[in-house]
Amino acid sequence: MDDYERFGVPAPPWKDYYLAPLITVVPGERTCLVCGSTFTPKEKYCQLCVNADHNTWDGTGPPSVETVSYLEEGVWRYTV
Ligand SMILES: [Zn+2]
Repeated sequence: MDDYERFGVPAPPWKDYYLAPLITVVPGERTCLVCGSTFTPKEKYCQLCVNADHNTWDGTGPPSVETVSYLEEGVWRYTV
């Protein structure tokens, strides 16, 4: 039983066809823990934060995590 049946709501004709697009991730991509932006291994650090505040992030970068570490299986794919 799907939600339409469960709640007695008429199902739209596209209900079996709608698929959310997969999130694309560059291999090695990381997410900045300060601003939430992503960056590639080639960029090394979040360029937005480094360029916005050279005093804080001079020569270093803000903390970051691997983007795939917080994504659920099945909602993302690597870029090709
Ligand atoms: Zn950032």
